[in-house]
Amino acid sequence: MDIRNKFLPYALPLIEEDEINEVIDTLKSCWITTGPKTKLFEEKFKEYIGAKHAIALNSCTAGLHLSLVASNIKAGDEVITTPFTFCATVNVIEHVGATPVLVDIDEKTFNIDVNKIEAAITEKTKAIMPVHFAGQSCEMDKINEIAKKHNLLVIEDAAHTIGAEYKGRKTGQDSYSCSYSFYATKNLTTAEGGMVVTNNDELAEKLRILSLHGISKDAWKRYTSEGNWHYEVIYPGFKYNMTDIQAALGLCQLKKLDRFNDTRAKYARMYDEILGEISGIILPKECMPGKMVWHLYCIRLKEACRNEFIEKLKQKNIGTSVHFIPIHKHPYYRDKYGYKTGDFPVTDKVFEGLVSLPLYPLMTEEDVKYVAGCVAEQFKTCKSS
Ligand SMILES: *Cc1c(COP(=O)(O)O)cnc(C)c1O
Repeated sequence: MDIRNKFLPYALPLIEEDEINEVIDTLKSCWITTGPKTKLFEEKFKEYIGAKHAIALNSCTAGLHLSLVASNIKAGDEVITTPFTFCATVNVIEHVGATPVLVDIDEKTFNIDVNKIEAAITEKTKAIMPVHFAGQSCEMDKINEIAKKHNLLVIEDAAHTIGAEYKGRKTGQDSYSCSYSFYATKNLTTAEGGMVVTNNDELAEKLRILSLHGISKDAWKRYTSEGNWHYEVIYPGFKYNMTDIQAALGLCQLKKLDRFNDTRAKYARMYDEILGEISGIILPKECMPGKMVWHLYCIRLKEACRNEFIEKLKQKNIGTSVHFIPIHKHPYYRDKYGYKTGDFPVTDKVFEGLVSLPLYPLMTEEDVKYVAGCVAEQFKTCKSS
């Protein structure tokens, strides 16, 4: 893509002929909602992660929500997570009536600061929801150790980390509950979609039932030759199932995921090289033992010129974004919980100069060099103005 004359958004999906053909095949098969392709996608995804169960859903948000519901987390309970995440992580805690308890982040990884978790635990705490930020795993050894000691569940938000590793194991591989997002901007996309992975048989069964109205067995099969018109609702469940049109995309994308992630890593290294020289810009760092899958490339500008910088890049046809506006700054959460400046000093400090640069496999190396060049140039001018 030649972006010098064309706007380059901060993220774009990479959809090729095989995805298009697979979707057409699904449409022609007349099985368009949850069916054989969704089941196959679950099998392939579970194999890829190395976990025991995978349940395909219409979003990552659904995976997080269902995991809380299925774990019987409810009003009066507390769930620990971080303010440095997309609102979905915290919204689902509100949905079940529980209270989110925010713990500040680590300045290097932007992940939850494991040294501050224990101080936030009370007798009401039921779970920790770590968010693996930008494609880098949280310090799971420590989080699992704390959870075990205090008898808490760990419900992971892996929206950014499809294929990431921590100490040689994939994110989700050993998890109680780990949810991935296949939203249009994520490392693997089904337009909208998600997957929840678990190694707990009982949780898997509950998630499956809850994801389709709370209907007891294999609800999706009721219109097949093996199916039966009779069913029983055993819980007022949700409508969170994935369609075969989405799964068709997912099956193709999963085959390319490692290639996509390698390209992201290569582009991240290119940014590192070109921007590494500039003092005043803090670059993202891979710090965890394992493999980061570079969902985002978030730089921090030391000078207070972020808005001007974003505007200047836009004039150069470069789209950027900011991940994320911290939870405690959103009116609903700020007003409900009375958060004050200084409650989460590291998050506030990181947020101040934060910008996400474009990073995705549809970009060419030329695009990456162009963006990096403009970033360097604009940073100089906004520093001097
Ligand atoms: C994208 C995202 C989600 C939500 O994913 P959906 O599939 O859109 O529900 C949740 N958490 C984080 C950190 C995200 O970036």
